[in-house]
Amino acid sequence: MLSVVPRPVLVRAPAKVNLHLAVGDLRPDGYHELTTVFQALSLCDEVELVPAKALTIKVRGEGARDVPTDRRNLVWKAATRLAHKVGRDPLVEIVIDKGIPVAGGMAGGSADAAATLVGLNALWHLDLTRDELADIASELGSDVPFSLHGGSALGTGRGEKLLPVLSRNTFHWVLALAKGGLSTPEVYRELDRLRGQGQPPRIGDAQKLMQSLAAGDSAQLAALLGNDLQAAALSLKPELRRTLRAGINAGALAGIVSGSGPTCAFLCESADAAIEVSTELSGAGVCRSVRVAAGPVGGAKVIDLESIG
Ligand code: ATP
Repeated sequence: MLSVVPRPVLVRAPAKVNLHLAVGDLRPDGYHELTTVFQALSLCDEVELVPAKALTIKVRGEGARDVPTDRRNLVWKAATRLAHKVGRDPLVEIVIDKGIPVAGGMAGGSADAAATLVGLNALWHLDLTRDELADIASELGSDVPFSLHGGSALGTGRGEKLLPVLSRNTFHWVLALAKGGLSTPEVYRELDRLRGQGQPPRIGDAQKLMQSLAAGDSAQLAALLGNDLQAAALSLKPELRRTLRAGINAGALAGIVSGSGPTCAFLCESADAAIEVSTELSGAGVCRSVRVAAGPVGGAKVIDLESIG
C-alpha cells in the first residue's frame, strides 16, 4: 500500500523595527500604553510545519540554544491556542530557523508565532481570514499582530491595535546585533525607574514621522526616529552608546535602539550606503555581528516550496 508523505508548509516571517516608540505611563493591568510606528524588515525567521504524532518544536540557526522548545515557546502557545479554537489536537512538528536575533528587540518570538498561525491555517486547510488570525495573534502577544500584518503600521494600546501607514520607497537598514540579549520586561522596569527619578524626556507624537514615510524621504525619517525605551536600554547596556556612535561614524543617517534592544538599527541613504556602513561597522568591533536589511516587507507568508525547488 502506498503511504502518503505529508507535505510540509514553510512560512517566512519578518523582524520589526520601531521607527517611533512612545511609551505612556504604567497602566493598572501592568502594561504601558504605547504609540508606535512599526516597519517590517527583510531579516526573517523561517518556520516549517509538518503533521506529527505530537506537538514538538525544534529550533536551529543563530541563538537557537537560548530558545525554549517547550510550552514556554510562543510557537507552542500559538499552535495550542489555534488548535483549541478549531477543536482539534495540535499534532504538528514545528521547526524554527532563526534569522532574527533572539531577545534582540526585533520581535523574533512574535514572528514565529505569527508564522505558526499562518502555517497551521494552510496545513489544516482552515480558511481562517487574516482578521480571524489577527484576533488570535493579539491574545498571544503585543507584537504578534504586526508580525502577521507586516508593512508599516501605527500600533496603539499595547501595540496590538494596528492601522496601516502609507509608506513610499524602500528604506535601507544596517542592524548591529549585540552580544547577549535584553529582557523586555526588565527594560520597561528600568524606564519606570528612570522616570521615577524625573528623567528622561519623552519623544513627541508620530505625525511628522508618518509624513516622512509617506514621502519616502529617508533623510527626513532619520531625523525623526525616536524610542522612549532607548534610555533604559542604554542604562542597562551602556556599551550600546559606542555601537550607536560607530554606526553614525560609519556613515549612517541615524541610529536607534530597536524596541527594547539591544539590537541597534541604522538607517542608511541607499542600498549601497548600507553595505558600506555594514562593512565599516563589522570592522569596528562594537557588536557581535552585522546584518543588512530593507523595509517595509510583507507579514508572515507561506512560501511555495515548489518555487524554491
Ligand atoms: P520583543 O521585541 O517582541 O519584546 P524580542 O525580539 O526582544 O521580543 P524574542 O526573540 O522574541 O525577543 O525573545 C524573547 C524571549 O522569549 C527569549 O529570551 C526566549 O527565551 C523566549 N522565546 C519564546 N519563544 C521564542 C521564539 N520562538 N523565538 C525566540 N525567543 C523565544
